[in-house]
Amino acid sequence: MELGAVHRTAERCRPRRERSECEHGRPLNCGARHDPAEPLVGQPLCPDCYDYTAHVLWHAHAGKLWDRFVRGVRRHLATAAGLAQTRFPEHARLSFARVAEFQRRAAVHIHAVVRLDGPAGPDDEPPVWGSTERLMAAVRASVRRVVVRTPYCPAVGELPLRWGTEVDARPLHSQDGSADDDAVAAYVAKYVTKGATDTGAGTDHRLSSRDDIDAAPVSPHVRALMGTCWRLGGRPEYEPLHLRRWTHALGYRGHILTKSRAYSTTYAVLRAERADHQGESLPSSDQSVVASHWRYVGSGHSPGAASIAAGLAADFAMNRVMARWANDGDGGDAV
Ligand SMILES: [Zn+2]
Ligand SMILES: [Zn+2]
Repeated sequence: MELGAVHRTAERCRPRRERSECEHGRPLNCGARHDPAEPLVGQPLCPDCYDYTAHVLWHAHAGKLWDRFVRGVRRHLATAAGLAQTRFPEHARLSFARVAEFQRRAAVHIHAVVRLDGPAGPDDEPPVWGSTERLMAAVRASVRRVVVRTPYCPAVGELPLRWGTEVDARPLHSQDGSADDDAVAAYVAKYVTKGATDTGAGTDHRLSSRDDIDAAPVSPHVRALMGTCWRLGGRPEYEPLHLRRWTHALGYRGHILTKSRAYSTTYAVLRAERADHQGESLPSSDQSVVASHWRYVGSGHSPGAASIAAGLAADFAMNRVMARWANDGDGGDAV
């Protein structure tokens, strides 16, 4: 399965030795060096080749894929430590902060910070088996194995959805060596930049008709994604995905920032960092904007700042998920 190549800001966009065309007569190569500001960046080389259905369905299942990923990490850690899964909470606690970022191709890209503490949470030393290396190995293994199948639909079939084959996972340390929540906040804030509206990958309000889609101030690519979302949303098999309701976010129902409650102290820091990184100041009265982009879910963890006993940052690139699907392996890295 291939989602399709988009124009990108690589050294050269899509260089090929031989000029070749897709079945619709459009070139498969692009020798341009695109400026990031060019509207063409993130648009498919051929909209007819692009798999809009898979793109939207991936968005609609990203939350489930994430839940299974977290369970998988816990399971891998338990197995590596020789523990029954049910005993895991007696020995360790896994928590995370996650940021969803809309890329130029209007695909969600997930950045996550995963940490392992002792059973009492952030103030508790992790178990001896809970090394950074083991946590990273568990993250990588879970990313590779997790799969979600779309509900069967006669027109689409049943699509297996996965994360990409490439994961950028690395240990996260603060500058002075004493890892703390501020370091996590700084890391996450780098990626908490824009909601769907800011990147042009959607609108900030719900769309309630095809006319709304036609009138939305978005690129042809995003409009095609919205149209796909609306069309698939009319199929009874996909009713639980609420695709029409989430057309403005291209089927993605998740929050932009999701975190375990262990990270609650970083909320204020994130706001400040976000302003820093964007080179702008958020008006303090603008709570609604921040809240709509940065809602979080609790996971039953006790709140409180603490040291990161073992932390790692994992970058689950949606675009690389697409690359995995691509036959020629170049479907990824839109920007
Ligand atoms: Zn190009
Ligand atoms: Zn084509």
